[in-house]
Amino acid sequence: MADYYELLGVARGASPDEIKKAYRKRARELHPDANPGDKAAEEQFKELARAYEVLSDADQRARYDRFGEAGVSGAGGGQGPGDVFGGGLGDLFDAFFGGAGGGGPFGGSRGPAAPARGQDLEVVADLSFVQAVFGTTLPVNVRTAVACTDCNGTGAGSGTKPVTCADCSGTGQVRTIRQGLIQMVSTRPCPRCSGTGQVIVTPCPTCHAEGRIVTEKTYQVDVPAGVDNGSTLRLSGRGAVGPRGGGAGDLYVHLRVSRHERFERDGNDLVTVVPISIAQAALGATFPMSTLDGEEELVVPAGTQPGRQFVLRGRGVPQVQGRGRGDLRVLVQVEVPTKLSAAESDLLRRFAEERGEAVHPPDKGFFSRVKSAFT
Ligand code: ZN
Repeated sequence: MADYYELLGVARGASPDEIKKAYRKRARELHPDANPGDKAAEEQFKELARAYEVLSDADQRARYDRFGEAGVSGAGGGQGPGDVFGGGLGDLFDAFFGGAGGGGPFGGSRGPAAPARGQDLEVVADLSFVQAVFGTTLPVNVRTAVACTDCNGTGAGSGTKPVTCADCSGTGQVRTIRQGLIQMVSTRPCPRCSGTGQVIVTPCPTCHAEGRIVTEKTYQVDVPAGVDNGSTLRLSGRGAVGPRGGGAGDLYVHLRVSRHERFERDGNDLVTVVPISIAQAALGATFPMSTLDGEEELVVPAGTQPGRQFVLRGRGVPQVQGRGRGDLRVLVQVEVPTKLSAAESDLLRRFAEERGEAVHPPDKGFFSRVKSAFT
């Protein structure tokens, strides 16, 4: 489906009032009463209704601006073919056209159809964990359509220009007048020029009158800080251009973020595990701690229990397009030594003795005897 703003013919920054006005105007033009039997107009009319439904709602509009159609799909949309004039939408029309007697609300003329918009493109981009946290600029390669430079996107070759369509005199529409009890006038897109109002006599040999060619292109994409694996960026107008001067679609960049060897993400928090010894846990210690911002100090107080969590405020992931950062949560893992030297073993025995704790006697087991036999 085409860009909602383009469907309504308004700028991205249009006010709610401008959107409403544009909708009324376009709806009048495309209304099935004004285009009896015109399937294309009916389709456009439905798309227009969907576009208005989204852009007239501040919440949905904001989501659409950020994520495109993916951000608003399923939100109320999806009128079936039959119910376009039923329910809320019908009421809407009554509000717009009701009591319009006299003047003939659908009699207005419109200009030639704007050239079709190009397709949206999707691409997957890889980035590192650190790039995702702090943001980066990524070169992204796409196979896309760009305007043909040989004909300036017109599709007309050998220095010629598209000429005015003789069938519709450049209006892009043909009128049918049906005589009856009352005269019925209906307009539909001109079949000869597909409603564009212009025809190409000499096609451009480079693009075969398409006005665009397929090529590889590299965009430098700004990735905001704080994006995560699976985030999608929408680059408005960076998709393929449409034929013969048609506007460009959008480019969707799906981000694939690699894992970090020490940090995991939990929302906007970073989580890491730091192993410490039983002596460090019991007596306390200060460790150099590498965070994504550089070296910091982690102070483990005396008597720290296994699994205790320390929080380094503001050392996590920035809010995407917002303020503030998450925290870095450090989980302390107390490691019990498995291989003790004779001296270490001795010290621990004395420690146990001091506290009146019963421990196994020095190892004179089978394995130790076997071991000593071989050394
Ligand atoms: Zn060309």
